Amino acid sequence: VHVAVPKESAPGERRVALTPEVVARLVKEGCAVRLEHGAGEGAFFTDEAFHLAGAEVVEGHELYSGVEVVFSVGPLPLEVIHQLSADTVLVSFQYPYRDPERVRAMAERGLSALAMELIPRITRAQSMDALSSQATVAGYKVALLAANLSSRFFPMLTTAAGTIRPAKVLVMGVGVAGLQAIATARRLGANVWAYDVRKAAAEQALSLGAKIIELPISAEGEGGYARELTEEEKRMQQEALAKEIGGMDVVITTAQIPGRTAPILITQDMVARMAPGAVIVDLAAESGGNCELTRPGEVVEASGVRIYGPLNLPSELAIHASEMYAKNLYNLAKLLIKDGHLAPDWSDEILAGALLVHGGQVVHGPTQELIK
Ligand code: NAD
Repeated sequence: VHVAVPKESAPGERRVALTPEVVARLVKEGCAVRLEHGAGEGAFFTDEAFHLAGAEVVEGHELYSGVEVVFSVGPLPLEVIHQLSADTVLVSFQYPYRDPERVRAMAERGLSALAMELIPRITRAQSMDALSSQATVAGYKVALLAANLSSRFFPMLTTAAGTIRPAKVLVMGVGVAGLQAIATARRLGANVWAYDVRKAAAEQALSLGAKIIELPISAEGEGGYARELTEEEKRMQQEALAKEIGGMDVVITTAQIPGRTAPILITQDMVARMAPGAVIVDLAAESGGNCELTRPGEVVEASGVRIYGPLNLPSELAIHASEMYAKNLYNLAKLLIKDGHLAPDWSDEILAGALLVHGGQVVHGPTQELIK
């Protein structure tokens, strides 16, 4: 199988889809891997390391001829899609709602596109679950960013200059990223509280040493995700949380609902009731934000409270984020490649679930709606 790995095209993206370690494994299993010159640079994997692993390092214009599978982190740009021959399999995060035009182009071209964010969250697919691996990275980093923005220590300190109490940190939304944020803030010595609308999440947070904020709202949705709250529930939630948030030094928010804009958990009014010097870091900034005042990619200050909505945190930990993503791809590749040949079974639950475009059609229901 001829496999290609491009240099990522999104501004600021430092990750690379495959690492030398995974390239070596694929080559051993009969793949011919071609890598765009400098593709690993942002994650500190040199062309030479890829070459030693058995990849052919080429210029961009030589990358795609005869290629059967393209592995990337973000979606391929339109001009690349137009160069690919029918039946090429593309594997990456696809974000169809950001650019429906691109999805249509992939279908017209006869490509098969798998979206890493659509891999079903079933036990067998755990090793391919890039949403989880990248959320783990983001959750770790968001806690560090919060510590960095705070004007207080996280740990308790007993010093000759007096005793310092540990920071009070609240993590709202305790999925994969939230749990990692809790673990990281705990390692830094903070006193950590957790809030989620799913009961299972609270239990997991408790096992990491967080205290739980319990409200009488339960919103377990399908597939282990949360459902959207009703207007009445939202009002009740904001009222109850306003008091809790008011006492926190740091609030980290990660609440998401699949396919929707993120729920607002912190209103402008709630920010005004926080103590000056408090910090909010909003991991949901990319999908609208959990705080009303969040501006994606910026730090804003309102009544002495700093609010940061960081974007693409996995890219900031490019080495480990790439290593984890590459392993996810390698495990998925086993479903695509048999004995060195491209032989996908499109009826396999995992491939079928992740398939966005195939056989000239957009096959993912919600995306079909989007491009109508
Ligand atoms: P996510 O990124 O979609 O959401 C983050 C968190 O926000 C979730 O815990 C959600 O409950 C919470 N949330 C949503 N609305 C909220 C609100 N109004 N108030 C407070 N919190 C709110 O979630 P995720 O991290 O991708 O994972 C969600 C679930 O999927 C978890 O239960 C996780 O264990 C499960 N999961 C299962 C597998 C698997 O079985 N292979 C893999 C990964 C994740």
